[in-house]
Amino acid sequence: AIVLALETSCDETAVAIVEDRTVHASVVSSQIDLHRQYGGIVPEVASREHVLTLGPAIEQALATAQLDWAAIDGIAATCAPGLVGALLVGVTAGKTLAMVHDKPFLGVHHLEGHIYATYLADPALEPPFLCLLVSGGHTSLIQVQDCGEYVLLGQTRDDAAGEAFDKVARLLDLGYPGGPVIDRLARDGQVVFALPEGNISQPDGSSHPYDSSFSGLKTAVLRLVGKLRSQSGEALPIADVAASFQHTVATALTKRAIACARDHQLSTIAVGGGVAANSGLRQQLQAAAAAQGLRVLFPPLSLCTDNAAMIACAAADHLNRGHESDLSLGAQSRMPLTQVMDLYKA
Ligand code: ATP
Ligand code: MG
Ligand code: FE
Repeated sequence: AIVLALETSCDETAVAIVEDRTVHASVVSSQIDLHRQYGGIVPEVASREHVLTLGPAIEQALATAQLDWAAIDGIAATCAPGLVGALLVGVTAGKTLAMVHDKPFLGVHHLEGHIYATYLADPALEPPFLCLLVSGGHTSLIQVQDCGEYVLLGQTRDDAAGEAFDKVARLLDLGYPGGPVIDRLARDGQVVFALPEGNISQPDGSSHPYDSSFSGLKTAVLRLVGKLRSQSGEALPIADVAASFQHTVATALTKRAIACARDHQLSTIAVGGGVAANSGLRQQLQAAAAAQGLRVLFPPLSLCTDNAAMIACAAADHLNRGHESDLSLGAQSRMPLTQVMDLYKA
C-alpha cells in the first residue's frame, strides 16, 4: 500500500510517502534552531511551528514523489506518545485529509514507527528480532514478534539514554541537543574516569539483566566535574569526561542488549532512535555482537531520528492487514507499545 504519513510528536515536522518498504518522499523540518535559545523544547512553540510547517511539507512530499491524492491508499499520523498539543496538529490534519480525499486513516504509535525504520534500512528483514530503542524519551528492549505484536523486555527506570546525553551536555555548557556534541568531543578524549553503569538491583540482590538507569550516572558526572573544577587552575579535561561518560552509556546498553538477545534466542538486534547514531555505542555493540555471532542493524541517521517515513512504513503494514483507525481517535501523551492494536477498529 502507498501511505502518506505525518509525524509531529515532538520537534520535527515530517511528512513522507512510502510504498510498503520503499520511500518515495521524506520531508523533515527540524525545529532545533528554534528551541535552542530556550535550551530545550518548549511545547507551545513546537505546536505552533507544526501548524505553520505541515501544509508546505505535505505539498513538498507529493511533489517529490510525483504523486497525486488518487495514488495514495491511506493517510497516517503519529497519535501517541509525545507532546499532546504537537501530536494533535498531525492527527487533526491527517483525519481531515482522510475525510476530504475519502481514504482510510491510521493512527500510528511513535515507537512502532522507530521499529519500522529498520525495515526501510533492510527491506528483507523479518521478525522475530530484538529492537534496542534508544531515543530522547526511551531506552527499551523490545521483542518484535509481528506487526502490532511487541513484548517489552527491558526499559530505563529513570532517564532515557538520549536524555542523559542532553543533561550531561547541559551541565558541561555544551548546548542542546547534547548527543552529537558529546560524541564529537569523546573522539579526542580518553576513558580515564570510572563512572557507575546504573545497575538496577532486584529483591534477591542480583542486578536486573535488561533494565537500565541513567540518572545516577548523570549525578556522578556532575560530582566529577565539580571535583575537577575545584582542583588546581587547570582547564577541565572535557574530552576525557565526554569519552568516559559515553563509554559508560555504551557499555551499559551493549551488555543489556546482548544478554537479552542471547536469552531470547534472537539472532538480530535492530537499533533505533537518535542515540543509535552514537559512535561509541556503534563500536561496542558491533564488536560484542560479532563475538557472539549476532547480527546488528544500524539504520542511517536520517531514519534513526524522528521522520515520517518510518511512520508511513508501519501504517502501510497495518493497512495491508486491513487495519484502520476510527475517526474519533485522539492524541495521547502516553501509551504503552503493547497496546498498539487498540488504535485500530476491531
Ligand atoms: P522519543 O522517540 O523517545 O519520543 P525523540 O523522538 O525526541 O524521543 P530522537 O529524535 O529519536 O528522540 O533522538 C533524539 C536524541 O538523540 C537526543 O537526546 C540527542 O541528544 C540524541 N542523539 C542524537 N545524536 C546522538 C549521538 N551521536 N550520540 C548520542 N546521542 C545522540
Ligand atoms: Mg527529535
Ligand atoms: Fe522519536
